[in-house]
Amino acid sequence: MRPKRLPKCNRLICSDCHKWKRIDLFSVDNRNSSGRQSRCKRCQSLWVTDHKDYLKEYDRRRYINSPEKFIAKTRNWRVNNPNKYKDQNKNYYLKNKEKVAEYSRKRYLDNREYFLAKQREWVERNKEWVSKYKKNWASRNKESTRVSSQKCRARRLEAMGNDIITLEEWLRVLDFYGHRCLCCGNDENISMDHIVPLSRGGKHSIDNVQPLCKSCNSKKSTKTTDYRKAVNEE
Ligand SMILES: [Zn+2]
Ligand SMILES: [Zn+2]
Repeated sequence: MRPKRLPKCNRLICSDCHKWKRIDLFSVDNRNSSGRQSRCKRCQSLWVTDHKDYLKEYDRRRYINSPEKFIAKTRNWRVNNPNKYKDQNKNYYLKNKEKVAEYSRKRYLDNREYFLAKQREWVERNKEWVSKYKKNWASRNKESTRVSSQKCRARRLEAMGNDIITLEEWLRVLDFYGHRCLCCGNDENISMDHIVPLSRGGKHSIDNVQPLCKSCNSKKSTKTTDYRKAVNEE
């Protein structure tokens, strides 16, 4: 019998669908002699969906057997796949907003000391911003009310003054949402977003601010998306 034509070396046969496919359609796996997984990417992803519980259990066991190794491996993966990790985080957050918010709140209550330290750190890091904060706002207010009469201006400033969010109030907002971005769930580079931007007449008050990370904040730009609704209502 004549042997079948040998496949080109840049092709592999999938152990599941038994089709010859280009090597780049198989994920890298250095434990195999071919350097690739035995299933093609498509079959592998189907297999992963079918064996979710099994894989969870497998991970759990690996973790119990040698937590350091497992943690190091997970951390490595995160470092090497920052975008995938970000997407994973975001997808999880979007699907489980309420759970995440609840978890954040609980984590906050259980680790108050840690979060208070984080708060202090935040104030320390944003010292300049904090000190300019009221000054800036007051001067901008004066600008907008300059046309009014003296008496009227004073009254208006006072009314606005009662409405201006205080630093304490902002920190309370941060605590409530677990120091996380309400859009993507990230807990780094959190900044204050005005739901209705100041440039569009939004107020600098507690009911018009939400924590967003810097990247989501700049993506939101001058839109008026209120992410609190999704978190609170879901
Ligand atoms: Zn396949
Ligand atoms: Zn974000």
